[in-house]
Amino acid sequence: MTDFLFETVTDKKKPYVESLRKLLGQFRHPFTEGDHVGIKLHWGERGNKGYLPPDYAKEIAGWLTAHGAKPFVFDTTVLYSGGRRTAEDSLNTAAHHGYTAEFLGCPVIIADGMDGRDVVSIPGGYKHFKTVQVGNIFDKAQGFVIFSHFKGHMVSLFGGAIKNLSMGFASRAQKQRMHSDYHPVLDREKCTRCGVCVNVCPTKAASISEPDYPEYDLKKCIGCAQCIAMCPELALQIFWNSDMTVFQEKLVETAAAVWKKINDKAIVINALLNITVECDCLAGKNPVIGPDYGFIGGYHPVEVDAESLKMTGPKIFEKVHPGIPWQRQFSYARQIGF
Ligand code: SF4
Ligand code: SF4
Repeated sequence: MTDFLFETVTDKKKPYVESLRKLLGQFRHPFTEGDHVGIKLHWGERGNKGYLPPDYAKEIAGWLTAHGAKPFVFDTTVLYSGGRRTAEDSLNTAAHHGYTAEFLGCPVIIADGMDGRDVVSIPGGYKHFKTVQVGNIFDKAQGFVIFSHFKGHMVSLFGGAIKNLSMGFASRAQKQRMHSDYHPVLDREKCTRCGVCVNVCPTKAASISEPDYPEYDLKKCIGCAQCIAMCPELALQIFWNSDMTVFQEKLVETAAAVWKKINDKAIVINALLNITVECDCLAGKNPVIGPDYGFIGGYHPVEVDAESLKMTGPKIFEKVHPGIPWQRQFSYARQIGF
């Protein structure tokens, strides 16, 4: 059943907590008293300017507590260098962005553990992934709120609920399995040999020795795309080792496997606010490309993302990320019964 909730923020003052409160008040929430409920979100990479402020997570945590649930906020560690590669760094970055237990009124944790090894394999049964490896969060929560910042993304066109469930829950190994289909290619005419790509590469796949241009060792490259994202001259392009639709399918398979585990006690909220070109994983400039619309809530991530994209229109993202077969996310989700 298609069932959406929408609260606009037009003419309201930031942060739009009142609109979120109204949206939460409309949910038929599936949680019961005493449930531990994980709020899955992204607190932003260190140096990122587009992430959502913690006021919204605080509102959701307060709403859950008022219904007798025991909320906590969580994310997983990431592949690339920066402020979220280890659990300790990620918690420091969260605190720096205001995501503290003190402010939120609930704990903040890393789903794959302080050493990134607290992971679990769950059934997939799909063409790319027979199993999917994710942070071991299922024993810690009986319910979930998938709270996502809806914005652009360089390989999936947009990032919303599907991506939050997929990359957001994935272990580092699973992230790598999804990212393994592309690597950087250099345009020498644009490259100034500044070395940024070398500094941000987490696997030392990128190297440069004066006076040469940088080189990328494809045996070491894990396709995290951080060099591509951080190059100040846009001198690096994505080269797909396989059909670009494969990434979209892998993203969807991981999300579908997670959703199968949690769907009987989960709600989904997308924040169509501060809609930036790139995801919150990147530090530095990240221009806003659309107005603040509001919050879309619902009971299925694919439907909430489809409704979000209907509201913004795909064109704002296609202009900045041309050629991405994003439609495959929806057709493949239908195909595999997600
Ligand atoms: S970051 Fe870009 S401009 Fe700088 S060395 Fe790497 S490819 Fe060249
Ligand atoms: S060279 Fe590969 S591993 Fe290194 S930053 Fe670029 S994409 Fe990531």
